[in-house]
Amino acid sequence: MFYEEAAISVPIMCMQCEDPACAKVCPVGAFSRDKNGAVISDPRKCMVCKLCISACPMGNISVSSVTKKIVKCTLCGGNPACAKVCPSGAIKYEDATTSNINKKKIIAEKFKDLFAEVEK
Ligand code: SF4
Ligand code: SF4
Repeated sequence: MFYEEAAISVPIMCMQCEDPACAKVCPVGAFSRDKNGAVISDPRKCMVCKLCISACPMGNISVSSVTKKIVKCTLCGGNPACAKVCPSGAIKYEDATTSNINKKKIIAEKFKDLFAEVEK
């Protein structure tokens, strides 16, 4: 079976991890956290070694084919464009609460089962 047939397509956003793997592996310390809680990298320090791309467990960092710089979610300075343009309102930008963190955990558990199905 081809990957495309077995795969499911879901948007997996940057989790702005508490202890981000992307930042841990960066050899030049390019990552920091901004006032909105976003994990951001400084393009002036980045040497595009791509270690952070391999380290992110969510696959949420890539290299721009246009600028040749790394690209990751920055929460758009606290006003995310994805949430603004989503036609069905499926993406919402809200402060983290215990309730929505728990929801994320439940959804993550469901995806774990789905991914296990795909691997069979
Ligand atoms: S890019 Fe990946 S590792 Fe870094 S904060 Fe986002 S989800 Fe976490
Ligand atoms: S690509 Fe840039 S930000 Fe990512 S690990 Fe390498 S130097 Fe750090």
